[in-house]
Amino acid sequence: MGRIVGIDLGTTNSVIGVLEAGRPFVIANAEGSRTTPSVIGYSKDSELLVGQQARRQLVLNPKNTFSNLKRFIGRTWNELNENSLNVAYTVRANEQECVRVTCPITEREYAPEELTGSIIRKLIDDAEKYLEESIDSAVVTVPAYFNDSQRQATRDAALLAGIKVERILNEPTAAALAYGFDKSSSSRVLVFDLGGGTFDISLLRISNGVFDVKATSGDTQLGGNDFDQKIVEWLADDFYKQYEIDLRRDRQSLQRLSEAAEKAKQELSGLNITPISLPFIATGSNGPLHIETKLDRKKFEFLCRDLIDRLSKPVEIALSDSGWTAEDINDVVLVGGSTRMPMVQQLIRTIVPITPSQTVNPDEVVAVGAAVQAGIISGELRDLLLNDVTPLSLGLETVGGLMKVLIPRNTPIPVRQADVFSTSEANQSSVEINVWQGERQLANDNKSLGKFRLSGIPPAPRGVPQVQVAFDIDANGLLQVSATDRTTGRKQSVSINGGSNLNENEVSKLINEAREKADLDRKKRASIDQRNNALTLVAQAERRLRDISLEFGPYAAERQQRSVEVALRDVQEFLDNNDLAELDLAVSSLQEALFGLNRRISAGRRSESNPIQGIKNTFGSLKDELFSDDYWDDDPWDYNPNQERRDRDYQSRDLDRWDNDFYN
Ligand code: AMP
Repeated sequence: MGRIVGIDLGTTNSVIGVLEAGRPFVIANAEGSRTTPSVIGYSKDSELLVGQQARRQLVLNPKNTFSNLKRFIGRTWNELNENSLNVAYTVRANEQECVRVTCPITEREYAPEELTGSIIRKLIDDAEKYLEESIDSAVVTVPAYFNDSQRQATRDAALLAGIKVERILNEPTAAALAYGFDKSSSSRVLVFDLGGGTFDISLLRISNGVFDVKATSGDTQLGGNDFDQKIVEWLADDFYKQYEIDLRRDRQSLQRLSEAAEKAKQELSGLNITPISLPFIATGSNGPLHIETKLDRKKFEFLCRDLIDRLSKPVEIALSDSGWTAEDINDVVLVGGSTRMPMVQQLIRTIVPITPSQTVNPDEVVAVGAAVQAGIISGELRDLLLNDVTPLSLGLETVGGLMKVLIPRNTPIPVRQADVFSTSEANQSSVEINVWQGERQLANDNKSLGKFRLSGIPPAPRGVPQVQVAFDIDANGLLQVSATDRTTGRKQSVSINGGSNLNENEVSKLINEAREKADLDRKKRASIDQRNNALTLVAQAERRLRDISLEFGPYAAERQQRSVEVALRDVQEFLDNNDLAELDLAVSSLQEALFGLNRRISAGRRSESNPIQGIKNTFGSLKDELFSDDYWDDDPWDYNPNQERRDRDYQSRDLDRWDNDFYN
């Protein structure tokens, strides 16, 4: 079995972890960051951008840049609330009432899982580069409160990225694994997980490597974004009162408002008051209009009071389902960036009056736990056992539209449960099995996971035929349903996948498309990298030649200087003609020539009898200083074959700084 990675696919950020020598750790992405923004975009040239690059164009290209997709994954149109639809890009329902994201620049519509697949692909690509081996399977985490459809859709997203999902793992369970995998003591833990778009609460007993989830609850439509939204509404309402302009109607203004709101929210976790400045946010009859205001923590907390109330309910439900009281809890683990808000931390303290564990990083703990689970699956980690539960009740629709629960919520998984049903009319030859998930009494108020028909039932009076319906939930929380007519033995079974936005054919079509595109993209990227590297080397070589000529004269190391010039001309020529086949060779020659030149210059410095020494003396005291050891140690070309890489690192760090400025 190849290497299995752990992926935390977050609403705002995603993280990838792996187990190395029995210890889990997080892999930094190609940009050097340990978290990757869960943002996908298409540039003005239709180039796919993922992560920080896509995030960078959120304000400037809002129609073609997609964030918060986790809120749409595995959901039908009528399940979305108004808040979820508050995004700067266009979302619509297709004929099957599935959510589709419109991208004007590529003139295409995408299923949310298709776009999410690109995030997974980037995480995998970066990890492969780091590990220097290919990865084909992963443990992917989902909110514990995700229903079957959302889990199926997440699995499809991974499939579209060419990754086999070894396990769908609940996020709070992953956090608990990270927290407790190396602890031998026994404890009862509450995991409070508030991310960018979802909220989960789980109660677990951890004892000598056995992780027993007792209860889980949550809200998949509640997260940090809702807190941002409160600030957006406050700013937009205030602006409307002053100028009668609704900033929410303009995509760019809305995006700028959202970014400023998130920044203010985060600052209020550390400060009591924060300024909000949005110059040129709109144009009025008398010219440009600006927002210059301040938000204090008290006001922010007042704006969010209903969200805080919504957070308490699932905690109460989970505690009651587990049969534990708050006093039974030994430790609280905070997960997700939104748990940094003081009002959230205060709320938790009012429920469980102990100081939360500080041993885990709330941004990375889920990916770390996923990596631990990957280690359990691959056999690298032994003596760990995970018993999870199903978050929501599963059942069938019976006469009168009632929901008959077969598997109640918080039942340990994997599980199989069967019951016998009969016909409601005489001589009924078939029955419809309609599967639902949720806690409401009427089936219609819950989430329909799909239906199928068992036919060929022999004629019989009402209530006589016996149809056994069985539900199987696997360790991923995914459901399979079968129905058997006990008289004839006729059986029908289905994997429930009605929740995914894509059917099987669409998934395989997209996988093939993605494979072809991935090859093309890889080739395109490789040639761009090749050109860029050559251009960087050319610039460095020119600079080096110029510096040496200036300091030691044009003939100081004549043979080596000419070799560099010749190699430089070759590289330039192949670049101009876009002859990439020859370019690599020419680049190697230039590197060699530069290395030779540097060696010659350095040798000159060390040798008393070298003509360069003579030149040095003629420059007098300034040159003496330049020829000191410090000077040469700092020389980027002195005996340093890794220089090109170092230069690139400097450049990318400069770029990052620029990005930060741009966004702050
Ligand atoms: P996650 O899904 O764990 O990456 O959490 C992302 C959410 O955490 C976003 O809504 C962020 O705005 C929010 N967040 C991150 N840092 C802070 C902070 N210091 N204060 C408040 N919210 C934060």
